[in-house]
Formats: sequence, C-alpha cells, structure tokens
Amino acid sequence: MVSTYGGTCVSGALECPENETRMIVSIDMTQMNKILWINFENWTVRAEAGIIGQDLERELNERGFCTGHEPDSIEFSSLGGWIATRASGMKRNKYGNIEDLVKLFYK
Ligand SMILES: Cc1cc2nc3c(=O)[nH]c(=O)nc-3n(C[C@H](O)[C@H](O)[C@H](O)COP(=O)(O)OP(=O)(O)OC[C@H]3O[C@@H](n4cnc5c(N)ncnc54)[C@H](O)[C@@H]3O)c2cc1C
Repeated sequence: MVSTYGGTCVSGALECPENETRMIVSIDMTQMNKILWINFENWTVRAEAGIIGQDLERELNERGFCTGHEPDSIEFSSLGGWIATRASGMKRNKYGNIEDLVKLFYK
C-alpha cells in the first residue's frame, strides 16, 4: 500500500500569512513517490521527493537495506520534506542526520 501524506511540518513553514500579497505556489508531489533505482554495489538509492518515509523504508527493507533515517513522523512525512527541513531521527547516532545521508547528483 502506498501512503499519501506530507504536510507534517511543525515549524509553520506551510502557513500562508494572511497579509501576504505575493503569489504563493504549492506543488503536489504525492505522485512522485517511486524508487527509481537501487545501486547494490555502492548502497545508494535514487527516489522521488514525494515518497513517504515508511514506503521508502519498507521497500528498502524488502531488499535488505534501510534508509538509516527514522523521524517520529516517518509514517506521514516525505523524503523531500526531510531534506527541506534537515530532519533528524532516532537512528542519527548510527547513520547521521538526513544531510549526512543524501548524495547530490549533478549532470
Ligand atoms: C508527530 C510528528 C513527529 C515528528 N517527528 C520528527 C522527528 O522525529 N524529527 C524531525 O526532524 N522532525 C519531526 N517532525 C517534523 C516533520 O515531520 C519533519 O520536519 C518532516 O521532515 C517534514 O516532512 P513533510 O514531508 O511532512 O514536509 P512538509 O510539512 O510537507 O513540508 C515542510 C517544509 O519542506 C518543504 N518541502 C516539502 N517537500 C519538499 C520538496 N519535495 N521540495 C522542496 N521543499 C519541500 C515545504 O515547502 C515546507 O517548507 C515531526 C512532526 C510530527 C507532526
């Protein structure tokens, strides 16, 4: 089963100020929820930003891997949200924070 959540941020980053006059754009990334590839040699995975944490974790577990990241909101929060908020989780001491786990690929 695939989850569709996100929007768990507790910092108020998703609030629209009532007096904001500039245009605000909101992009729904719930359909960008796939793992694109797993590299079994260097243990990296490329996934779309809207994938929900527990789905990413479950799919990796099925292949013998884990994300190494487990915030309390893992059932509801997304990979993109983790990165944007520099999320931290209970596996931090072993694997590091999300910024330690993400690798940027440049073309
Ligand atoms: C019950 C509960 C437990 C929590 N536990 C933890 C915890 O253990 N550790 C922790 O660090 N936080 C925790 N949080 C806070 C929150 O879950 C995290 O900050 C999480 O990373 C937010 O992810 P999200 O997908 O819900 O992002 P959202 O709330 O949807 O967005 C958060 C911010 O990220 C931006 N954003 C989201 N997706 C993208 C994207 N694809 N590209 C660019 N910007 C994007 C949004 O614009 C917004 O500014 C918890 C929150 C709750 C409600």
